[in-house]
Amino acid sequence: MNMVEVQSLFPSEDGNKQRQQELLQLIETLVKEFDALKDPNLSTLGPMRERTGEFYKEIMDSAQAPQRGTSMQEVLQELLKLAEGHPYHTRNFVTNVLPMASIPGIIGALLTTLLNGNNLWDVYGPAGAEAEVKVIAMMTKLVGYDVKHSWGYTTWGGQGAVFSGLRLAIAKQFPRAKEEGVPNNLYCFASENAHYSLLKSMEATGIGSNHLITVKTDPTTHAMDVKDLRVKMERVIKDGGIPIYIVATTGATDSFGIDDVQTIKQTADDVTKQYGLSSVHIHADSALGGFYCLFNQYDFDRNPLNFEAPLCEKLLEIREKMRHLHLADSLCFDFQKLGQTPYLTSLFLVKNGKDIGLLDLHEFETPYVGNRGYGSYHTSYTLECSRMASSIAIYAALLAFGVEGYQQILANYVRVNMAFREKLLSVFPNVAITNENNPGPITTFRFYPGQPEWQEEQAGRLPSTRIINNNEWNYPIFEQLGKQRERVFFGDTTRQCLIDAQDSAERIPVYAVKFFSISPYTTVDTLDDIISFLLEQVTQTEAQRKVETVHV
Ligand SMILES: *Cc1c(COP(=O)(O)O)cnc(C)c1O
Repeated sequence: MNMVEVQSLFPSEDGNKQRQQELLQLIETLVKEFDALKDPNLSTLGPMRERTGEFYKEIMDSAQAPQRGTSMQEVLQELLKLAEGHPYHTRNFVTNVLPMASIPGIIGALLTTLLNGNNLWDVYGPAGAEAEVKVIAMMTKLVGYDVKHSWGYTTWGGQGAVFSGLRLAIAKQFPRAKEEGVPNNLYCFASENAHYSLLKSMEATGIGSNHLITVKTDPTTHAMDVKDLRVKMERVIKDGGIPIYIVATTGATDSFGIDDVQTIKQTADDVTKQYGLSSVHIHADSALGGFYCLFNQYDFDRNPLNFEAPLCEKLLEIREKMRHLHLADSLCFDFQKLGQTPYLTSLFLVKNGKDIGLLDLHEFETPYVGNRGYGSYHTSYTLECSRMASSIAIYAALLAFGVEGYQQILANYVRVNMAFREKLLSVFPNVAITNENNPGPITTFRFYPGQPEWQEEQAGRLPSTRIINNNEWNYPIFEQLGKQRERVFFGDTTRQCLIDAQDSAERIPVYAVKFFSISPYTTVDTLDDIISFLLEQVTQTEAQRKVETVHV
């Protein structure tokens, strides 16, 4: 390959028509051939391929970087092979919070790539900086923070936000920890249903995951039991520990339980005051659920989007819990989840933006960026050095959807789940919905050998063996649904929540099938097909169970 050929692998520097056509044609072919793989009656782009350990081993053995470059036409064909059999977000894609990237999200990401600015510094990435400030301001106002005081940045996922919140929590109480390391008596708190992000953050900051105190959840709401929070905070303090960080999960990944930020804050402040300690940093892990704060200003009396009355009731229930989000010291919006943008587009917001300064490096430590008369936006407080300008895709989506567009799609998730629950209960006599008090985009449900026993399980009235039996009853159903995921892609969880058993001090995890309405194409009309698929698979599993029993 000569230098001219090398240059031909880049976009032009002068905007010439020929190079422009080449790029556009590649994109056109890519989109067309991608579209040819689509089938709304499947949840994949054509037939799935099995991916065993062997599959990856063969790749390891055979893959080799080519000595001579490959033509872009061939590269394109190779890339399209990667797409074959890939999960795709059709109406039948109901497994988890793995959304489709919307067109504004895709176009925003395309500009991000074309510019390829570094969001580290506005001298290198002015578009990213400007878009970032815009989306910080927009989301600040929607969530009810004060735009004069709040600040934030885009980061590596909801996980990154939980981690950044913990960095802040440490820095606020122990500003010298950056240089001296963290004291060995710091403790953090989160509910049983919290995402494992905090566990990893405890490891990574050196506090140690043994210092993560798990707070019970209420079995009916799946929200943090604040009485248990108080008891556990007091116990830690009496043993010489210092509580620094509480993660309030506002929209749990499995149950969509929503912790009450207001009572958590009251409880935490009460306890720390009582013991003369500094206040604890509260991070609302709103990665998933936070978007429902977009209903904070919805006028349910006028109801401009004409939502059905029963749907309004459920949306009001969610809003009742989400409206306290602004009481948290920091929070997160994972746009790659309910914000309809591609990975990775997560926004971390801090109520008192000045606190972020505690994480900043000294100018001396960043000699080649930031400290100049030109350029005023240098993100030396993020854990990343180079940063992608994911704010551009977020900005595009916020503009294109508007608050109303988001309200429409977020309401549809709830509407679809209401209908799904009703249909599910009418078809299966032996099923229970295990997050029945959590309206939202998710339904978790489990099957029983006979009559549903969820009421008894939830109330702690069953022996542990019985609960475990019920769990195991569901396992073959998970397997069967998993095998058939090409048709309808359900999710499952082996720890939707923990419940008490009658005869055991240990809380027992609950297995459940998971329906996550995430595709814009899953509507109430598409549910009958999904339900008949489920019926077919459950019937099949039962037949298989009988055969196996006979053989035993
Ligand atoms: C998904 C999720 C996370 C992790 O977010 P990533 O973007 O995957 O890093 C954290 N917390 C909650 C509640 C989540 O739903």
